[in-house]
Amino acid sequence: GGVAAFQWGAAESGRVSAFDASTLDPADAEKWLDRPRPPPSHAVRGTNTETEEERARRLGAAGVRDQATGKLARRAITGKFQKYTLGEIIPITHDVTLLRFLLPSDDDVFSLRPCSTLQAFAKLGQTAMDEVMRFYTPVTVNGTKGYFDVIVKRKQNGVMTGVLTGLHVGDTMMFRSVAFKLTYEANRWDSVGMIAGGTGFTPMLQVINHGLRDGAVDRQGRPDKTKLSLLYCNRTERHILLRGLFDRLQKEYPDRFKMRYSIDAPINPETWNGYTGYITEEMVRETMPPPSRDGKSVILVCGPDQLLYHAAGVPLSVGHTLSSGKRLQPTAPDLTNLSDIGGVLGKMGYEASQVYKF
Ligand SMILES: Cc1cc2nc3c(=O)[nH]c(=O)nc-3n(C[C@H](O)[C@H](O)[C@H](O)COP(=O)(O)OP(=O)(O)OC[C@H]3O[C@@H](n4cnc5c(N)ncnc54)[C@H](O)[C@@H]3O)c2cc1C
Repeated sequence: GGVAAFQWGAAESGRVSAFDASTLDPADAEKWLDRPRPPPSHAVRGTNTETEEERARRLGAAGVRDQATGKLARRAITGKFQKYTLGEIIPITHDVTLLRFLLPSDDDVFSLRPCSTLQAFAKLGQTAMDEVMRFYTPVTVNGTKGYFDVIVKRKQNGVMTGVLTGLHVGDTMMFRSVAFKLTYEANRWDSVGMIAGGTGFTPMLQVINHGLRDGAVDRQGRPDKTKLSLLYCNRTERHILLRGLFDRLQKEYPDRFKMRYSIDAPINPETWNGYTGYITEEMVRETMPPPSRDGKSVILVCGPDQLLYHAAGVPLSVGHTLSSGKRLQPTAPDLTNLSDIGGVLGKMGYEASQVYKF
């Protein structure tokens, strides 16, 4: 049962269920991403005797390539809501949790085309008003077999995060994929700048993973050369999620990926060598492609309402429409892009055509 699966994780990591939150390290959370898929103690398995060819014929264009084997795999996540079983729960900080959901079969391959996200669905009562949908972009690299991971930050009185953090191993959750109007393609832009706050890093990690780690090529088959930069804003240095991964990628791809952090206030001012405070024009000048209309660069922004407002002038009322109370999130997730650019980016002369807000 659920207990067995939980103990499997505990035995493997030496973790006990009553964990000591002070020992958790959000920067080091990457170590959980490459762990083996937990045993499918809850997933219901069919006996599928289909051959690879039969499977390819049945799936047609809907299939995705398994990057390791080059074989066609079933598209395990579609635009229709489907149930996924929670396989493992890993606490990252006192209010951030990594949830590992199992794809229907061990051979299913995780793949989401950037930029798209998962949308979680929950029905909390009898009426349509009791249906909740919220976006969560997995941190999993395309081509991963058998599961995907979402990192969820619990919000005070948050409706969906209350549901997600209350799940037990073996419970199911409905997800579908939703594509944004903006798609990332290798060499479509010379440079892509990204501004993220808190868990808003997840859509950016999808772009970074695809650009640097998926072996992306453009239509002429040339490897991706796009220069990527991420300005990642957090409360303190202790709040920076997956810092180890970002720092490593910057070292591995010094010509292609530039990583900078800003925090509201350092816990230890002597050792902090990133930016401090809300986003400024200076930070943007140093980390982002300059304002331009040539279509060769773009800036992506994702984060809390306050950051979207401060950085790009997205009205706070838009944020509340997208995520507050039990209201539905629109299917076409582009409300944030209807307003003109304001805030720091607006003041610096960036125009709507160069800025995309998630
Ligand atoms: C593209 C995209 C990707 C995302 N990826 C992730 C991800 O990977 N991980 C993640 O954790 N989040 C992610 N998010 C955010 C996520 O979609 C949710 O918005 C978030 O989890 C909060 O949902 P909730 O239902 O728990 O909170 P909500 O119920 O929507 O509430 C959010 C906050 O607003 C407050 N609030 C609610 N109603 C009101 C009101 N009327 N007036 C004032 N305050 C109110 C609540 O108390 C709470 O603190 C992403 C968002 C986008 C747009």
